[in-house]
Amino acid sequence: MPNTMRVQYKQKCVKCKKNYVLATSRTSYVLCYDCQKSSLIGEITEPAYKKLFSIPEEYYKENAFLRNIKANYLKYHSLSESQVTAFEKVVDQMKSEKKLGMK
Ligand SMILES: [Zn+2]
Repeated sequence: MPNTMRVQYKQKCVKCKKNYVLATSRTSYVLCYDCQKSSLIGEITEPAYKKLFSIPEEYYKENAFLRNIKANYLKYHSLSESQVTAFEKVVDQMKSEKKLGMK
């Protein structure tokens, strides 16, 4: 059976060095949800980004890439177009995986 899924592997959180994080080749800096939680809290005022980031919290728990993008936005208050596209792509993929009962 051909494997069309993204390659995922488990990597230890760089901060607590205790929890494992499911990372993809896209994720270079991995923090577990617990360690990154505080950098995901912040006010988002721009409607487009508000909409982009209003996904179920479990998505952020499961995916380090989504956490990194949100943390980046909260830090710099902007994202590149390719970051937005990648974010939407991952969310879509997670949505369809959940619908298919793969997760
Ligand atoms: Zn951690």
